[in-house]
Amino acid sequence: MSTSKSSVFDIIRELTELPGPIGMEGPVQDWIEARWSAFAEVRRTRVDNVLAKVGGSGPRLALMAHADEICFMVKSVSDDGFIHIWPYYGDTRGAPPKWVMPLNQSALIVTPSGTVDGVFATASGHVVSAKERNASGWEWNDWFIDIGASSREEVEALGIHAGCRIIWNPKTRRFGEHRISGKAMDDRAALAIVTLAAERLAKRGDLPYELWLVSTVQEEAGLHGAASIADEIEVDLCINLDVGLVGDIPGTDKRDFPNVMGAGPAVVYHDSSAHYSWKLSERLIGIARDAGIPVQRAIYQSYGSDASALLKRGTEIALVTYPTRYTHSPIEMVDERDIEATVDLLEAFVVHAPS
Ligand SMILES: [Zn+2]
Repeated sequence: MSTSKSSVFDIIRELTELPGPIGMEGPVQDWIEARWSAFAEVRRTRVDNVLAKVGGSGPRLALMAHADEICFMVKSVSDDGFIHIWPYYGDTRGAPPKWVMPLNQSALIVTPSGTVDGVFATASGHVVSAKERNASGWEWNDWFIDIGASSREEVEALGIHAGCRIIWNPKTRRFGEHRISGKAMDDRAALAIVTLAAERLAKRGDLPYELWLVSTVQEEAGLHGAASIADEIEVDLCINLDVGLVGDIPGTDKRDFPNVMGAGPAVVYHDSSAHYSWKLSERLIGIARDAGIPVQRAIYQSYGSDASALLKRGTEIALVTYPTRYTHSPIEMVDERDIEATVDLLEAFVVHAPS
């Protein structure tokens, strides 16, 4: 059974446009809880992971993805109402790397009581100081958020204070025949994949695994949500879904990144956080090949996944990724055919009795 192109786009658009910065994933987890409750027993943990038991009997298998997205944070507000920012990660460079570029994007400030619109701004060429004109590279304080306020009091009255999160906030759009671009494909496209696969599997009823779904929090901050999954349920096997690195754009080296968009999901054998199960990875490749599902293989550097947190607690793990361009940017791009193929691979895997 296949899912129609428009329903793949619709669920990805819905999930990616939700605000879910690290530590404030509530709207995403609310969506997940509501959607998964239609076919599974769902509960939320103390740290706000969502766990869902779909059914079946056999080894306990979890399909896992993360709800959070990368973000910036409010560090201070100026007397004249501008908001100064730091990034979500512990910054050791003291300045933004050249691939982090929020400028001239819509911004959404997420406060405990709601959201506030703004823009990521910097002084433009007409008004920049002579010193800045000749400077190379950015400093964090070159960027700020303008929400149209004129004073600190006005900003604070909206519930904005140090610690509030800021995300870039583009619409999710289609490009060409197959491509979808927007924010938070990392990792909402994975939640879309898990959801679509589980909805098909729940209808079948006689699964050879006890199938669970997991939506974690705070992956981008160091796999913190995934770290407590093993305390909630004992998982025998886990397939973790996340964005895949591709080398099919200018500026990359195909010797390092041989995977491409449109050629199917990748089974990842290793990244900076773990060595994934050889047996489970090979089984995924075998099932894909037998079912005629396109599949790629990869190893990554400068990349980690939630699966490693489960490995440390005794779960056999695999990492499956869908090719994604421009990762950790407001224009993360995926290919609908890869999303479809990843749903097909999960479905094929779960219906084949464990060997
Ligand atoms: Zn991710």
